Amino acid sequence: MKTNQVTMEKLVNLCKSRGIIFPGSEIYGGMGNTWDYGPIGVEVKNNIKRAWWKRFVQQSDNSFGVDAAILMNSRVWDASGHTASFTDPKMDCKECKSRHRADNLIENYSKGAVNPDTMSNEEMESYIKEHKINCPICGKHNWTPIRLFNMMFETSRGVTEENQNKIYLRPETAQGEFVNFLNVQRTTRAKVPFGIAQIGKAFRNEITPGNFIFRTIEFEQMEHQWFCKEGTDTAFYEDFKKKAWDFLVDLGFNPEHLRYKDHDKLAHYAKNACDIQYLFPIGWSELNGIHNRTDYDLSRHQEYSGKNMQYVDPITNEKYVPYVIEYSIGADRLMLAVLSEAYEEETLENGETRVVMHFHPSIAAYKVAVLPLQKNLGEKAKEIYKKLSSEFMCTYDEAGSIGKRYRRQDEIGTPMCVTIDFDTLENNTVTIRDRDTMEQIRLSVDELVDYVAKKIRF
Ligand code: ATP
Repeated sequence: MKTNQVTMEKLVNLCKSRGIIFPGSEIYGGMGNTWDYGPIGVEVKNNIKRAWWKRFVQQSDNSFGVDAAILMNSRVWDASGHTASFTDPKMDCKECKSRHRADNLIENYSKGAVNPDTMSNEEMESYIKEHKINCPICGKHNWTPIRLFNMMFETSRGVTEENQNKIYLRPETAQGEFVNFLNVQRTTRAKVPFGIAQIGKAFRNEITPGNFIFRTIEFEQMEHQWFCKEGTDTAFYEDFKKKAWDFLVDLGFNPEHLRYKDHDKLAHYAKNACDIQYLFPIGWSELNGIHNRTDYDLSRHQEYSGKNMQYVDPITNEKYVPYVIEYSIGADRLMLAVLSEAYEEETLENGETRVVMHFHPSIAAYKVAVLPLQKNLGEKAKEIYKKLSSEFMCTYDEAGSIGKRYRRQDEIGTPMCVTIDFDTLENNTVTIRDRDTMEQIRLSVDELVDYVAKKIRF
């Protein structure tokens, strides 16, 4: 169990000091709950997205990718229900003016024993009153009533001051897949069941963002919508629960750190919904969601756009609006889970400790670090670096003792270190050190590329 070693503070510090993630706009004092990925972080996150795409588009029969616009016609959000009800129940503390989510207040107070998702706003208000739940900032109990707060970021589009149209930054990527259902089906000649996947930015004016990159106001989602016929939906829902789980385990997650959590309260259109939770440093929390959304999304777009969203079965000529199984996971939230899962403080035989990030090799920023034992071996080392870096992301380090250089690579999770010594000049062999076992083997330079390629496969 590695998770119990890691705290959010340790992760934030490691991320900042090793170029994984920096606070956003830092030189201006920051911009609350925005984060910038550094040289290591951007590689790891891109690799996570690539692994997801490989699994859910490349290796998934009948799935197709899109990259839809962030700014969409406002009618999209009327049809999806977001303009009317993408809200959180907020309460303001009249004493210190801080803003809170009523459901979070109850959840934290009851330590998860009470599920506010099953409560109406009135019930939440009375619970907070009855149990005298105080403001977590100032400790007083003087709340405004619950008000609904729409979490969509608004902006406007227009060439003149008088002629502004309100538009929104998308709060989820899913609608980009739904509005392209007909386009994708027609151009790929896909037969139902088929899937549309997308990775992209989403924006939510969260009332209580925080916990590093767990909940931010700008984040990336990886979503896969599976269009199927009513009657086949429950089997596909179960199938996606398993696929979502297997993806995490194949990425290196310990299954003991994962669990399914069915939703207690379903949205009115949903037939089934569950999350996969991960044991984050903050406790068990949602990592991804799998939902059986019935024919709600396409029917609503049919109603609001006036376009016929029915699929015509080419064999039976039957016409119907497909059901949708949605699988949605935040790339940043998965990044946080990957970081937490990978982190280990290991005590070595000589009593020293090392921090090592056990990323799945396909996820690691650099696959190989090339380390000449001495500076005068630089020419040969650079030649090997050039060969490797034309195939993989690699790094080169000749500063400091070899032990220190190994530690630096362990901290950013580089799975293999190649050292160049005087024997390399003699017989064209190098030493290759494994990050996890620290074992070293001798290998011919000619075998290196194939060796690394095999090790990093996902
Ligand atoms: P939560 O209950 O945590 O607010 P949600 O149920 O609203 O999440 P969905 O709308 O189902 O989340 O979004 C799908 C996924 O997107 C989530 O499982 C999570 O991984 C990610 N996600 C949602 N909101 C955020 C956020 N504010 N910051 C980072 N990731 C997010």
